[in-house]
Amino acid sequence: MKKVSRRTFNTTLAKGIGATALATHLPLACGMGQNNQKKRLGIALVGLGSYSTYQLAPALQDTQHCHLAGIVTGTPAKETRWANRYNIPKGNIYNYDNFDTIADNTDIDVVYVVLPNFMHAEFSIRAAQAGKHVICEKPMAMNVAECDAIIEACKEAGVKLGMGYRLHSEPYTQEVKRFVREKTFGDVLYVSADAAYRSRGYPDQWRLKKELSGGGALMNMGVYSIQSAIYATGENPIAVSAQEFSTAPEYFKDTDETITAQFEFASGAVANIMTSHNLNANNLFATCTNGWFELRPANNYGPLAGKSSRGDITFQHESQQKLQMDDFAKHILYGDPNLAPGEMGRRDMVIVEAVYKSIAEGGKKEALNFSSDYGFGR
Ligand code: NAD
Repeated sequence: MKKVSRRTFNTTLAKGIGATALATHLPLACGMGQNNQKKRLGIALVGLGSYSTYQLAPALQDTQHCHLAGIVTGTPAKETRWANRYNIPKGNIYNYDNFDTIADNTDIDVVYVVLPNFMHAEFSIRAAQAGKHVICEKPMAMNVAECDAIIEACKEAGVKLGMGYRLHSEPYTQEVKRFVREKTFGDVLYVSADAAYRSRGYPDQWRLKKELSGGGALMNMGVYSIQSAIYATGENPIAVSAQEFSTAPEYFKDTDETITAQFEFASGAVANIMTSHNLNANNLFATCTNGWFELRPANNYGPLAGKSSRGDITFQHESQQKLQMDDFAKHILYGDPNLAPGEMGRRDMVIVEAVYKSIAEGGKKEALNFSSDYGFGR
């Protein structure tokens, strides 16, 4: 049985979930009042922008362990549209002001925060305080201090916290993690990880405003290249040096356009990452003592594609978001591993801050010191 911390255990009991369920591994869904044993969890999406509209809501029509139960929006016109399209009862529709009353709604077990980055911490914390499990989109928050506040609020409330890191549920990425874990190609020596897209023609978007996004390419696609470097080496970095390139400062006025960074790992492996809002790149390459592997593309919605020194890597495509949300629901219901815990999102924010610090200091090497692998080896 999955180890349950005393604090979580006590809170769980306080919420009325019997010890019998814990002991027998029956479906568990804490934080939802009366209805303690559900087979499919209700998810409420907070923020109905493009990711919720085109990826998460469609994926939730196919999930087996969770479903779209509610919405939270600041745009009244979306309420009717979404209610009609997805058959959402009026009582499961919230706005940003009355959101906290979601605490009383037993249809909703999980709140999925899909808002601009500056709103992640506020809504993740409010969701936890309402007794709901939380999925927080990437990047986890604006800075490490906010990540800490989210983690603390979830611990305090005894609810689960997962990141919207869809790739951890995706088979090509899981295969990369297996290569590393089983040393299929020997020791990883070098990783190159690029995650970038050309984002021009929308100068007013929130992603280009530091106050709303916390940063540019690094806070957006950069998180994928950081993640890639880590799961393709199977280690957290021990040091990072970084550089920023600005070729279109008239457009990227307020946030970083292109960043490269080099990671050092305790094993001696090295990684180079690149992220940008001004060019397209989407790949992961690793060379090892006994061969190589690559994913190209490596981080879009799929299908991904892979090759190695032993031949093609091929998996059937499924919605990454469907797999991700089902995995998180299984974590809650059955104690399956949390593939992307909040601590992993925090770790990435520590790295983001170190990259920005290195750039501010002219590329100086910043030491990093993580005490856990945050489950990236699974
Ligand atoms: P979006 O701009 O399409 O949607 C943002 C939503 O927030 C809109 O519904 C908007 O009305 C609402 N909003 C509320 N206050 C706002 C404000 N002050 N400014 C702007 N919008 C405001 O963004 P998106 O692409 O849906 O991204 C939302 C979050 O999801 C971001 O954190 C992003 O990084 C993340 N995301 C993750 C993935 C992934 O693959 N995991 C993909 C896309 C986006």
